[in-house]
Amino acid sequence: MIVVMEPDATEQQLEAAVKKVGELGLRANVIIGTERTVIAVVGEEREHAKEVLEVCDAVSAVMPILAPYKMASREVRPEPTCISRGSFAAGGSNIGVIAGPCSVESEEQIVASARAVKAAGATALRGGAFKPRTSPYSFQGLKETGLQMLAAARDETGLAVVTEVVSTEDVELVARYSDVLQVGARNMQNYRLLEAVGGVDRPVLLKRGPSATMDEFLLAAEYILNEGNQQVMLCERGIRTFESHTRFTLPLASVPYLHRKTHLPVIIDPSHGTGHTYMVPSMAAAAVAAGADGLIIEVHPDPQNAASDGYQSLDFGGFRATMDQCRRVAAAMDRTLGCSPS
Ligand code: PEP
Ligand code: MN
Repeated sequence: MIVVMEPDATEQQLEAAVKKVGELGLRANVIIGTERTVIAVVGEEREHAKEVLEVCDAVSAVMPILAPYKMASREVRPEPTCISRGSFAAGGSNIGVIAGPCSVESEEQIVASARAVKAAGATALRGGAFKPRTSPYSFQGLKETGLQMLAAARDETGLAVVTEVVSTEDVELVARYSDVLQVGARNMQNYRLLEAVGGVDRPVLLKRGPSATMDEFLLAAEYILNEGNQQVMLCERGIRTFESHTRFTLPLASVPYLHRKTHLPVIIDPSHGTGHTYMVPSMAAAAVAAGADGLIIEVHPDPQNAASDGYQSLDFGGFRATMDQCRRVAAAMDRTLGCSPS
């Protein structure tokens, strides 16, 4: 349910309504909007809960939330959520740009990548230290050593670090070294991991599972929000279809659909979404034109010799050209892409 407060409700009246929600065995999440303050009420509803809340002081209306996801729904928060952490901002007028290699391979590789992507206008550095690979024989990442290299690259450039966490035991460790926690496509329905990242003070980049429906994707986000972490970004990274000309099929219609259904920012991954370097610049520009709030792009100093995903990675020159083009598209959309290049 959504409890809508009167515009002139006092702090005490809001507190009293929140207390009443608790007494009904439900959880209250206060959302202070520009126009109105609402309480998103979640949990198993008892009979007459709506009637009890309707008569609280300064409550103007109590309405059901129709979507299966509650906190993620646009019904509870009409205005878009903006997420920022250090150098990175996504949502509103900002299009955040996360760029870097698929995997952290060495300090030299990650620092060189950080310098190059920052100079081209990226606002965050990506790089996997824990890699969820389809085959157990593939490179699994440098783990904590990789996290230390990412932190060194942040010290060197000031770029916020986005990196994946693959298991609940590692959440605290990965959060210690990074600014944004990535939950990968393969883990989108790992509910214990979603709860664990919901309990830390870090934005989360949640990638869509390759065969997840939009409702499943939004309900996965709901697990994180329901633990109290409101800083969730949804990443469309392509889904599995019958097509084989691309690694996955990248549905850019996800952007307007998600913008209609949720207030959370939407990030597009044209690298995993296509699986081919040559397709990345066009799909990045198309994502910006479709209204994406951010991009995550794989960039490597020497793609041909990358430990993972080199075939879909841009080199430094390719990334700079892509950014220059996307910046012009962003300007046409009245938005700002990343930061100014140097
Ligand atoms: C990645 O970002 O390198 C990655 C493994 O992505 P996904 O989880 O979307 O496959
Ligand atoms: Mn990758």
